[in-house]
Amino acid sequence: MKERTGTIVKVSGPLVVASGMAGAKMFDMVRVSRQQLLGEIIQLNGDEAAIQVYEETAGIGPGEPVYPTYEPLSVELGPGLLETIYDGIQRPLNLIQEKVGDFITRGVVVPALDRQRRWHFVPCCRNGEEVGPGTVIGEVQETVLVKHRIMVPPGLRGKIVEIKTGEFLITEPVAILATDRGNVELTMMQRWPVRQPRPVRRKLPPDKPLVTGQRVIDAFFPIANGGTACVPGPFGSGKTVIQHQLAKWSDAEIVIFVGCGERGNEMTDVLLEFPKLKDPKSGEPLMKRTVLIANTSNMPVAAREASVYTAITIGEYFRDMGYSVALQADSTSRWAEAMREISGRLEEMPGEEGYPAYLATRIAEFYERAGKVVCLGTNQGNEMEGALTVIGSVSPPGGDLNDPVVQATLRVVKVFWSLEDKLAFQRHFPAISWLRSYSIYADAVAEAIAKQSSPEFPADVRRALALLEKEAELEEIVRLVGKDTLAPGDRLILETARSIREDFLHQNAFNDADTYTSLRKQAAMIGTILYFYDQAQDVLTKGADINRIEKLPVREKIARMKYIAEAEAPTAIAALRQEIAAEIKGVIKE
Ligand code: ADP
Repeated sequence: MKERTGTIVKVSGPLVVASGMAGAKMFDMVRVSRQQLLGEIIQLNGDEAAIQVYEETAGIGPGEPVYPTYEPLSVELGPGLLETIYDGIQRPLNLIQEKVGDFITRGVVVPALDRQRRWHFVPCCRNGEEVGPGTVIGEVQETVLVKHRIMVPPGLRGKIVEIKTGEFLITEPVAILATDRGNVELTMMQRWPVRQPRPVRRKLPPDKPLVTGQRVIDAFFPIANGGTACVPGPFGSGKTVIQHQLAKWSDAEIVIFVGCGERGNEMTDVLLEFPKLKDPKSGEPLMKRTVLIANTSNMPVAAREASVYTAITIGEYFRDMGYSVALQADSTSRWAEAMREISGRLEEMPGEEGYPAYLATRIAEFYERAGKVVCLGTNQGNEMEGALTVIGSVSPPGGDLNDPVVQATLRVVKVFWSLEDKLAFQRHFPAISWLRSYSIYADAVAEAIAKQSSPEFPADVRRALALLEKEAELEEIVRLVGKDTLAPGDRLILETARSIREDFLHQNAFNDADTYTSLRKQAAMIGTILYFYDQAQDVLTKGADINRIEKLPVREKIARMKYIAEAEAPTAIAALRQEIAAEIKGVIKE
C-alpha cells in the first residue's frame, strides 16, 4: 500500500478528526501527529476519520499529520506476557518508566514482548506432521508455574518441514510450515486484532464450577468455569479483598487482571498490592501466572477501552492453550464512561444517561468472549479444553443498580455477587448479600459440585437459603412485636439462620485456616449446621425448651468449625455431629 498521510482537522480531547484518510478502515490503528501517538479509527465519513487517541493529546493541533497503519489495533502474544504489567495499549510499564521516567509517556514505542530475551523452545511435534490452526508445536517454560504452549496461528495449515529445539528470540523461526501458498516461518509470537474474538472449535456448556474456596460463592452463588459474573463494589465493601481472594484461590491456572481506575491512587494500589500476592499452592509470587493491565492516571480515559480489549484477547490466547483463565476487570463502569465521553465528542445520538446507544452491545460482546471451549487446535493429537471466566466489577454512581451500565451487564452475566457496604459496616465479610445475589449456574454445576463434595450438598444449600429467606421475614415480625412472641420453631429458625450467616457465610480472608475452604469441608459445615437444626426441631416437637437449645455449649463448637484444618476436618466434623446428637438428647431427658 502506498504511504499516505492524513491531516488533523480537529482535536477534541482524546478525539481527533483527520482528513485524507481514504483507504483506511474502521478500527484501523493510526499514529497521530509527529509524536506518533497511538489511535484507533472509530468512525469513517468519506475520507474523514474520527480517531480515538490512546495517549494524551494536549498540544496537538490541526494541520499535523496522521499516519495510517492499515492494520487493526492488535496485541502481541507469546512468551513474556506473564509477570508483566502493561498499560492499556500493551506497553510494559517498567520499560516505559526506564525509558522516559514517570510522567511523559507519549508516543513511546516499546514492544509488548521482550525482543532480547531468549526462551528455551521444546518441540512437541515432528517433521512431516500435518498441523492446523491452533496446533501446539512446542512448549516454553515461561515461569516456574506455567508452560507456554506455542501454537500455529489461526488461519494457517500445512506440513511441518522443519522444527527446531533450543534457545530462541520470539522473533526467530522455530519451525517451518509448508502451506498451499509456500513455506511460512513460525515464530513464538503471534499478533491478534483485539476487537476480534479468537476462534475456537466449539463452545461447551459451562457445567463445572470455578472453585474459589470462598464459601458464599462456591456454595450459594457459584460461578461456572468459563462463566461470567458481575460484582458492584461500594467503597470499603471489601472489593479489593475479594478480588485478591479470587485471584489467589480460584482454581484457574492463569489470572488476568485489568484495572480501569478513576482516581490515580486506585491504580497505584493495584500496582503495589497485586505483585505482592503469593500463589498459595506453590508459595511463588502470584505474578508468575498473572498478566496485569493497568490504566495509569496519566493515560487518557480512551485507553480504558483498549485495555479491556487487550486483556480479553490475552485471556483468550491462554485459553487456546487449554488453560483455565480467570479474567477480572475493575471497573467496567469506567470503561463505559470512556465510551460515553467519546460518543459525546462524536456528537452521536445519546442513549440512556448520555451513554451511547451501542453500550449494551459492547458490554454483551465483551462478556460473550468468556466461555468453556474445545480449543481450535490439538496438543499431540489430543483435543484441548480451555476456559475463560470473566468477572467484571461495576461502580455505579451512588451505588444505584438501575444505572445503565449495571443493567446492561446484568442482562448478559449469569452471576451477581451483591457486595454491600451495609454488611461491611457490620463486619460481615465477604460482604456479599445472601438475599440479593444470584447464580444462574447453580443448577448446571450442582452435579459437579456434589461429585467433589457430598451428594447432599446442593440440596442442603437450597435449604440453608430458604432458612435465610425465612429469617428475613421473621425479622420483620420481631421488629414489630419482639422476639418473645415467636413460636419456638421460629426461634429455632432464627438461631439456625444466624449460625448459617456467622458460622458459614462469614469467612475471614486473613485467617490461615479460614481463608480457603474446600468444597468437601463446605459441605460438611453446612450439613452439620442443618443437622443441629433437624435434631433440635425433632426434640422441640417432643416438648423440649427452646431456651435450653439456644444455650447448648456445642453451638460454640459449630462456630469454630471454620478454623478446623482441612486435613482434620472430616474426622473432627463427624465427631462434632455425635456431640450435637448427645447434647440435644440431653435436653429432652431433663
Ligand atoms: P474496598 O476495596 O472495597 O475499599 P477492601 O477490600 O480494601 O475494601 O476492604 C476493606 C477492609 O475490610 C479490609 O482492610 C479488611 O479489614 C476488611 N475485609 C474485607 N474483606 C474481608 C474478609 N473477607 N475477611 C476479613 N476482613 C475483610
